[in-house]
Amino acid sequence: MLVGIPQGLLYWNYGDIIKSFLNELHIEFIESPRTNRNILDKGVNCCVDDACLPVKIFHGHVDWLKDKCDFIMAPRVMQLKKGEFICPKFCGITEMIKNSIDGLPPLPEEPLYALSEKQRHQWFLYIGELFGQKRKKIYEAYLKAMEENGRHILGFNEDNYEHKIALLGHPYNIYDTYCNMDVKKKFNKQGIGVITEDYVDSNLVDREVDRLFKKPFWTFARKNFGTAAVLYKQKQVDGFVYVSSFACGIDSVVIELVKEVIGTFPFMTLKIDEHTGEAGINTRIEAFSDMLKRRSANNGHKLSAFG
Ligand code: SF4
Repeated sequence: MLVGIPQGLLYWNYGDIIKSFLNELHIEFIESPRTNRNILDKGVNCCVDDACLPVKIFHGHVDWLKDKCDFIMAPRVMQLKKGEFICPKFCGITEMIKNSIDGLPPLPEEPLYALSEKQRHQWFLYIGELFGQKRKKIYEAYLKAMEENGRHILGFNEDNYEHKIALLGHPYNIYDTYCNMDVKKKFNKQGIGVITEDYVDSNLVDREVDRLFKKPFWTFARKNFGTAAVLYKQKQVDGFVYVSSFACGIDSVVIELVKEVIGTFPFMTLKIDEHTGEAGINTRIEAFSDMLKRRSANNGHKLSAFG
């Protein structure tokens, strides 16, 4: 049994847990490579046109893996936290893949509700039993895998630059450097450091979200909005950059919520899809960086924000 792990979507959050679980059970796995032109082209060719870029990229990873493994670890994630929901694309990812890609090996069918210890364990039990493992061994592997959770901090908090921006967006848009054309490196080249949501106190994030008249119930929307509000109030950054997938309904709501809180403070949206050109991104980053530096040189005098 060789399990294929696609390096897309929630791989950035939960890839280490899955790998640790499989390692504990001595089940071999293969990962698709980091996103590249070939993966993107595969995804664009097989996925429905109106899907967002990260979903297309995920299709590309699955397509790359399909002839190289016996099972593809593409969980159908339904809910991560009580009272919150996740984008419907995650809930329907299994059907999307099955209807778009021919010749697939089996995928996990059981939905994953990660709201409680019991539910998480249930799902891992389902996966372990699919691979013919004993319940006791599965439980031990599950406990080991959960130890991975939180051990590895994904994000950045760079203090060794004169200026700093908060990089907002869904994890797969922030950490997949092919998908976002390595926007962090581009800011670093301009002498600007980056902080991401992983370095912001989650209690403060929750408190900011709770202040809203109507609370957003999407898990990633809450995090992005709350992170922006905390960093703005703590005066920790010189500006905000939101990496947003074209056609993402959740992003369009969160961006407006963030703008509402920060007012005319510098904010830039970088919309990405498979047609986004690097030259255009470079120009916008350079212009935004220049504006931040001039603004700071003018002792905080507010210049116009970028929309
Ligand atoms: S939240 Fe937006 S970017 Fe993420 S999968 Fe859903 S539509 Fe795509």
